[in-house]
Amino acid sequence: MYVERRDAETAVVAPCCAAQGQPCSNDQVNFDTNPFLLRLRQENLAGIASKECAVCWQQELHTGRSLRTSSLEFYKQPGTQRSGLLNLDWNVEPICNAKCIICSNYHSSAWLAEDQKFSEVLFPISRSAATARANDIIDNINFDSIYRVYFNGGEPVLSQDPVKILTKLDQIGKLESTTVGFNMNGSCMPSAELISLLQKARSVTVYFSIDGVGSQFEYIRYPLSWPTVTENIKKIMQLNFNSLIMTTALGIHNIHIAQQTEDWWLELASHGPSCTEFANTYQLVVGPLSIDSASERLKQQLHQEFDSTKSSVNQWIVNSLNGASGTDQWISWLQRLDQRRSLDWRQALPKLYQAAVAAGVVK
Ligand code: SF4
Repeated sequence: MYVERRDAETAVVAPCCAAQGQPCSNDQVNFDTNPFLLRLRQENLAGIASKECAVCWQQELHTGRSLRTSSLEFYKQPGTQRSGLLNLDWNVEPICNAKCIICSNYHSSAWLAEDQKFSEVLFPISRSAATARANDIIDNINFDSIYRVYFNGGEPVLSQDPVKILTKLDQIGKLESTTVGFNMNGSCMPSAELISLLQKARSVTVYFSIDGVGSQFEYIRYPLSWPTVTENIKKIMQLNFNSLIMTTALGIHNIHIAQQTEDWWLELASHGPSCTEFANTYQLVVGPLSIDSASERLKQQLHQEFDSTKSSVNQWIVNSLNGASGTDQWISWLQRLDQRRSLDWRQALPKLYQAAVAAGVVK
């Protein structure tokens, strides 16, 4: 079950962090009785592709894999119980020090501050860090059958929620049998208290959100510092957690640098401790920067540039491009952000700019 808080009385629940959730009152945040979750469960059992799970079904169309398929594999593991609240995807309050170009005020307090500074709301405001913190639903969640907890955000390192939840699991004697997943943007190290709780868990997987390297990372994950992020990742490598996974949000803005980013990660991983498993995954961006926002002209140009047989990421890109029928709305999105930040996407993402010029969609 995925839970995010909006205000003191209202939360959003979903089967996982990728699915489209549904708002409900706090008293309906219940894995066993929530009507929305019950409906999705029945549809899944009947083999129906619920519209709320479209992200996974679409991804499976392109790659044959998704969060949905990996979850099914996870629950098939021998010894895994099959009923009750086994997994909690906990969305911390929308506190974040980054304003990634793929994100919005819904997940980031820095984004919200920027919207407010420019008196221009690019995404409707439905919660803030303060309104989410006012919700104490966590105190009512029953962790008796818990097997895995995954923290996403916002930036979980900046929230008190992980310490609070892991302390609770420790106190009820569950932490040692719980698998913990932890998403982070890499800009800040977890506190000593959080690290010590993580080290008591059954296993820990840290997911780093990395969509590019060097100055391109800094443009995409503005205003984070690439040297700081790489230093922090190296420090976390020394903590001997079970798995470190680079997750790349793949959109039109970074298709030209995805392979370079993956190569950087593989090189870093080759120096990592042998007790830690390293991997990387991709998630398709939705919204103005999605690959399928490419117009027909840009799509034709990009098809000339990407050979699907050369790498698995190229295969993702080409498959996603096949469904593109957009109007290049990504251009106006980047221009609006550039105006606010005194940046220029044409310099920050030169290969995308060259492709757009060759396609005749920008001058
Ligand atoms: S780090 Fe995550 S929450 Fe923060 S702005 Fe980026 S995508 Fe949004």
